[in-house]
Amino acid sequence: MKPERPTPLVDPFQRRINYLRLSVTDRCDFRCVYCMAEDMQFVPRSEVLSLEELFRVAEAGVGLGISKIRLTGGEPLVRRNVLSLVERLGALPGLQTLALTTNGSRLVSMADALQRAGVNALNISLDSLQPKRFRELTRTGNLHQVLAGIDAATGAGFARIKLNAVILNGRNDDEALDLVDFARERAIDIAFIEEMPLGRIDEHSRPLSFCSSEALRHRIAERYPLTALGEPTGSAGPARYFSMPGSATRVGFISPHSNNFCHLCNRVRLTVEGRLLLCLGNEHAVDLRPLLRRPGSNRDDIARALVAALALKPEKHHFTHSDEPEILRFMNATGG
Ligand code: SAM
Ligand code: SF4
Repeated sequence: MKPERPTPLVDPFQRRINYLRLSVTDRCDFRCVYCMAEDMQFVPRSEVLSLEELFRVAEAGVGLGISKIRLTGGEPLVRRNVLSLVERLGALPGLQTLALTTNGSRLVSMADALQRAGVNALNISLDSLQPKRFRELTRTGNLHQVLAGIDAATGAGFARIKLNAVILNGRNDDEALDLVDFARERAIDIAFIEEMPLGRIDEHSRPLSFCSSEALRHRIAERYPLTALGEPTGSAGPARYFSMPGSATRVGFISPHSNNFCHLCNRVRLTVEGRLLLCLGNEHAVDLRPLLRRPGSNRDDIARALVAALALKPEKHHFTHSDEPEILRFMNATGG
């Protein structure tokens, strides 16, 4: 492990911020039922940051001690020329982890190039192994295409691959063990995520569909004894991980409802229209787009804006169980 670099990116609660999540698009080829409404309004093109503008924020952040960047969205791989951004980020001195979260639909053609460009941690979302159910949950997704994408990724030599599964009661909770077995067969990690109340959706009731990490953990432990790998840390993110006998696969649980790890938060998010979001579950944000588009603005200006923005980072989020979302911004617009 390289020693951590000193950074001015410290928030009012003395949390050191070294992780930037970049949403490279709010658009997507899927319409997952927990993430989007069926009819979505996307950010107008003129308000979408260019790849150059996204890079400038990343470069200024890395100059301030950001050591991990995740590209996400929306679906990052539908953004035209995203590989050119990945290559530039992959070459930034000081960046230790370049991660990407994808729905897997384009990995067959892109996995090798992403790995060569410097992506060293890949998260792939997979909520079901049943084609019909996969289509229902994603509204447009093709399971076979995603499974082929996962095969392409496991063959491409990424340092780390993890599956993400959002589990909804009565929809796919009966597949938790099948998903664990799928991950075990490939010796990759898997994390189960509790649904978060971002954006207004009509497709299902979020409170009624809520499936707690605790319930899943008990179900999985009936087949595979789970050994806790310690409490979450800032660098490992908010998941609590467990090991299983006879496998290198770790099972994680991301529990924004049942376990709040805000005190370990080390991250900020940049939305594709240039808002620096200081918390997933609050609206505190700074609009960086005017600065990015101001003639003559330079890296020092962006760095100063990033440092100043941290003063607004709230201490914690509070998610409650309600069909009325507290946060109207959808996950695809958040950089989840
Ligand atoms: N399109 C990519 C994907 O699906 O992996 C990246 C963006 S997506 C917003 C990132 C992650 O957020 C996915 O694993 C997805 O399942 C999860 N997600 C989306 N909406 C969510 C919600 N309301 N609650 C919890 N997780 C959510
Ligand atoms: Fe698209 Fe990812 Fe949201 Fe699904 S979770 S709609 S794949 S952005």
